[in-house]
Amino acid sequence: MSRSALENFPRVDLRFGPSPIHRLDRLTEHLGGKVELWAKREDVNSGIAFGGNKTRKLEYLAADAIKQGCDTLVSIGGVQSNHTRQVAAVAAKLGLKAVLVQEHWVDWDEVNYEKTGNILLSRILGADVRLDPAGFDIGFRKSWEDAISSVEDRGGKPYPIPAGASDHVLGGHGFAGWAFEVEDQEKELGFQFDNVIVCSVTGSTQGGMIAGFAHSNRAQSVIGIDASATVEKTWEQIARIARRTAEGIELGREIADEEIVLLDRWHDDIYGIAGPRTIEAIELAARTDGMITDPVYEGKSMAGMIDLVREGYFPEGSRVLYAHLGGQPAINGYTTAFSY
Ligand SMILES: *Cc1c(COP(=O)(O)O)cnc(C)c1O
Repeated sequence: MSRSALENFPRVDLRFGPSPIHRLDRLTEHLGGKVELWAKREDVNSGIAFGGNKTRKLEYLAADAIKQGCDTLVSIGGVQSNHTRQVAAVAAKLGLKAVLVQEHWVDWDEVNYEKTGNILLSRILGADVRLDPAGFDIGFRKSWEDAISSVEDRGGKPYPIPAGASDHVLGGHGFAGWAFEVEDQEKELGFQFDNVIVCSVTGSTQGGMIAGFAHSNRAQSVIGIDASATVEKTWEQIARIARRTAEGIELGREIADEEIVLLDRWHDDIYGIAGPRTIEAIELAARTDGMITDPVYEGKSMAGMIDLVREGYFPEGSRVLYAHLGGQPAINGYTTAFSY
């Protein structure tokens, strides 16, 4: 039932089509060649301001916003949020306005942190960018409610989008669709992936994947790598979103706790800042396959995948699919994370 139920939800097309899947040849060889590493590239999924995982999620939320006659997308994130940049871009593309609350999620003391990278792009894209001193929290915020009422006060109609487009009734739909897309691509490739590696923070990327793959009882093969360093909160949110999405797309059964796998060894004890292992992983993926990952999210899931291969976690002959969720524009705010 799941796939046709998902197709009944309105969706605006914001991407090039299915995101590409390719083999990471040199990283595979570098790590011994016994486990085949592949990547599915959400970082190149769209021509709208560098795309990424939020663009895929926003296809469903934007359709809902248009249906409801809203004229302003209102959202929230850290100063270097990829999500708010994608909200700004989607608003521009659809002729809507965007109000973005950018909180102080990361204590990162770099001169241009509040000027370069994602926040620069959001400003170029024409969003109303509002800096707020609140710290990291994936939950709901007063600053966000203030932003919503400010749109109403000027006679506009806001469409509220929570952090990461996650804790929303449609938040998981995009990545449930991702799971079905992988299954189509597997038919063309002639094999199935044994595991998916995905970075998790606000939870609807992994939650959506779980709901989609649960359809063919493969949810447990999705290995979440936590980058929030508030692991229990993120696990709860993934579980809630996976279950809510499963209900929305009529999975027809409950999702068990065992189907929600979130590993907690690679968050470097803090959201938004990379430790030495993350930096090493970023450099290794770049220097083997030319694939760029960022210090906040993808470098951490890359470190997780690399360590799991080195530890023999995957049986010989396994094929592992790294979900590359985007995030490269943030790198410009993190020059001092690298020792060059
Ligand atoms: C938002 C984001 C994530 C985390 O996805 P969630 O759905 O919030 O768990 C991972 N990588 C990148 C690049 C992101 O922008």
